[in-house]
Amino acid sequence: MNRLIIRHARQIVQICTNREPMICDPKLLQNVSVLECNDVIKGYSIVVDSNGNIADVGSDDVIGEKYKDHTFEKDIDATGKCVLPGFIDGHTHPVWTGDRVHEFAMKLSGATYMDIHKTGGGIGFTVQNVHQSSEEELYQSFVQRLNCMIKCGTTTVEAKSGYGLDAPNEIKMLRVIHRAKKELKETIDISCTYCGAHSIPKGKTMEEATDDVINNQIPQISELVKNGELSVDNIDVFCEKGVFDTDATRRILEAGKAHNMAINFHGDELHPMQSGELGAELGARAISHLEEVSDKGIVAMSDKKVAAVLLPTTAYILRLQPPPARKMIDQGVPVALGSDFNPNAFCYSMPTVMHLACCLLRMSMTEALIGATLNSAYSVGLSETHGSIEVGKVGDLVIVDAPRWEHIIYQFAAHDQTIDYVIKRGIVSYHKRS
Ligand SMILES: [Zn+2]
Repeated sequence: MNRLIIRHARQIVQICTNREPMICDPKLLQNVSVLECNDVIKGYSIVVDSNGNIADVGSDDVIGEKYKDHTFEKDIDATGKCVLPGFIDGHTHPVWTGDRVHEFAMKLSGATYMDIHKTGGGIGFTVQNVHQSSEEELYQSFVQRLNCMIKCGTTTVEAKSGYGLDAPNEIKMLRVIHRAKKELKETIDISCTYCGAHSIPKGKTMEEATDDVINNQIPQISELVKNGELSVDNIDVFCEKGVFDTDATRRILEAGKAHNMAINFHGDELHPMQSGELGAELGARAISHLEEVSDKGIVAMSDKKVAAVLLPTTAYILRLQPPPARKMIDQGVPVALGSDFNPNAFCYSMPTVMHLACCLLRMSMTEALIGATLNSAYSVGLSETHGSIEVGKVGDLVIVDAPRWEHIIYQFAAHDQTIDYVIKRGIVSYHKRS
């Protein structure tokens, strides 16, 4: 039996129709493929098969005729509504305990990120809390956060470790992500990132921390991955002045790559670190932040098609100069989006991130939507199966109760009103009950 049919949709926003791995041509970014009702075609339908993959997309008439003898586990009437691909959040730090609401107050009265970092706040505060928390405590709060993200339309999320900073605590965080990946696979897909080099642990120098990551943490984690106890997709480093410099970053990323982890790291956020150039040289899949990326870095990323994962919440909360999104798009860098969900940037919502991307980074609505779907799938190596509504891809869908898809961005912070259904592999994971 097929899992799902959605009928009578006013728009189906496919994003693309030729299995593009990502879209980075500035002209092509100004349109997304949309099936839209007109005088002749009164509605569109989608069928998701018994494996959770999209089996068919077409007009109500054609699909109705073709599937008239089929049965469906779920039949949704989407009259007047729009169907979009599920959102893919390309950058989050969602495993932690202990909020940092007190630091938000400090920032509002003028403290910078680095002021707070130097007084033991910021990442250091969260690391302390994570060290004191059990795996179960971390897991329960992580699941609760994932459920909040799902309600905002997220069906795939990149999730980092990085508040452990030593082998036992990094492994504890990675176990939490591994368990969620298995237990919640019917509601959300997770791309797991090891970020043991997120900060220099107390009492260590950068050199000592780098050696510990390379010679102690990575080999232990890699062993657990081989035994099936962990699943790690990506390696990450916070490449920043006063944290890990460009040479240390290079050494750590190369070590991760040698253990089959894809390179996906924090670069050029507060200071220019030549992260764009480094990522292109090492064959990175993605670099996040890039507020301070150089012109050379942009060219290098465009040449190698390294995804830029832009995080408008950071510029908004820390009042930084936003990353040069327009320059990157104009030069052909594949631009993706992430919420940067963490105790500093408490944002679950990709619709809000898309809105901020438009207003702060001056992206168009189509650029933002592609950044939150196909291009973010590309940034975590999943665009063959995720990120667009095409036959054969997973049936990850969001139904928006509005006459045009743009309302998901235009109605600022109203996703709890606009999102009607969130669907993972053809199964409803969230439905708004009015
Ligand atoms: Zn981050």
